[in-house]
Amino acid sequence: MQTGTKKSIKLDYERLNDSLSRLEKIVLDTLDFDEVVQNVVDSLFYELGDLELGYRIVVLALVDENNQVLRRVSVSQTKEAMEGVSALPKPFHEIDIPLNAKDNYSIKVLKIKKPLVTHQWSNILTPPLKPEEANQLQESLNIKASMIYPLVVRRRAIGMMIFSMIKDESRVSKYERELIRRFTDICALAVQNSLLYSKLQDSTVKLKKANTKLKELDKLKDEFVYIASHELRTPMTAIKNYLWLVLHKDEAKLNGKIRGYLIRAYVSTERLIKLVKDLLTVSRIEGNRLALLFQPVDIYGLCKSVRDMLVINATQEKVKLILKPREDVLKVSADRDRITEVLQNLISNAIKYTPPDGTVAIDIEKKNHDAVVHFADTGPGIAKTDIPRLFQKFGRLDHSYKKIGEAGGTGLGLYISKQIVEAHGGKIWVESTVGKGSTFSFSLPLIEDKETK
Ligand code: ADP
Repeated sequence: MQTGTKKSIKLDYERLNDSLSRLEKIVLDTLDFDEVVQNVVDSLFYELGDLELGYRIVVLALVDENNQVLRRVSVSQTKEAMEGVSALPKPFHEIDIPLNAKDNYSIKVLKIKKPLVTHQWSNILTPPLKPEEANQLQESLNIKASMIYPLVVRRRAIGMMIFSMIKDESRVSKYERELIRRFTDICALAVQNSLLYSKLQDSTVKLKKANTKLKELDKLKDEFVYIASHELRTPMTAIKNYLWLVLHKDEAKLNGKIRGYLIRAYVSTERLIKLVKDLLTVSRIEGNRLALLFQPVDIYGLCKSVRDMLVINATQEKVKLILKPREDVLKVSADRDRITEVLQNLISNAIKYTPPDGTVAIDIEKKNHDAVVHFADTGPGIAKTDIPRLFQKFGRLDHSYKKIGEAGGTGLGLYISKQIVEAHGGKIWVESTVGKGSTFSFSLPLIEDKETK
């Protein structure tokens, strides 16, 4: 078996390399843990079996840190191995060796990270089996010796392999030892990789589940907000209407204080209704329920009607609201109600944040294939660093509230406007200089251009 000539030693190494690359391909080619561990025990057995060297059973066991045991994970599909497994007093996968069983050779191998040989299975199968049970089983299978090799990755023993043979260990050639040693190194890597991979897969599955759950919760939240706001709107509108009635019908009978309270109640109810309306729109947007009814809209005409609606507010605030006239008609394809909402948001904001004697100017221009509407105010302006927050949900900037005591808005108006404009294929942005004012703008694609494209 062991030859003295240089030529035959060289040949042995060629064979060794051939065997190893075959084995390497088998065990490193797959990432599935169960497949890897089965390949590990079967492939080496067959490489050695081919040589008819007397190997009968190959076992792979891995350290289970959580349960502090060495757990058997696979066994070669050989006749002796199957007989041995069926003669075991418990299932093969339940033959766990506690990591503190210091006398067990498998545990010793993990500690010293070097191979050991035993002629008695009691050294590798106790405590799960009684010593005599283990030795009897070994005898019945005609096993003479078992070599135990550690599986070491980055200086850590992650498990071990047992090679049981019908010959004595003194008849194991250098070649076989080298093949087993190098192969167990490859196996250690393959097992570690597949372990990491299956952990990764586990985490991916868990993440997917968590994600689905989050989506469900998010949907529930949307539904809740939708239903709650729907239900809130009706009674609040009734309260607002009754307050209006009391304020206007019995004006003469109300003393100043009571009238003041009622006005505050009326304004608060209005704000609540606006908040509920905004929340409803947000829940529609986020639940993909924002249905848009597109139709040709004269954007100047629409700006004019919203301007007319809000001019009273501007006058109350002593703000001049100007709409720059346009001769031509610019048509966009839009949902009239939703774009009205955007115009109301932007114009109301401009009025709200502009101090008395200031101006809000609305200007529409045709730019390339878009109609662009600008709202220039002479308000406090917005710092560059604050701009990214503006169009986010609840993105309110406290600094810019001009009226002392006013609780401010919802921080939803610009977020909603952005969603609506973008759903129309347009853009919304702001340019601002602190201390001078802000110009909010949005664009919508023109119909004429769409048709001639
Ligand atoms: P809000 O209901 O608070 O007005 P918006 O989403 O409409 O919510 O606006 C978000 C924030 O953007 C406001 O809280 C305000 O700080 C700032 N903002 C909006 N428009 C202007 C403006 N014309 N001038 C200065 N700040 C503005």
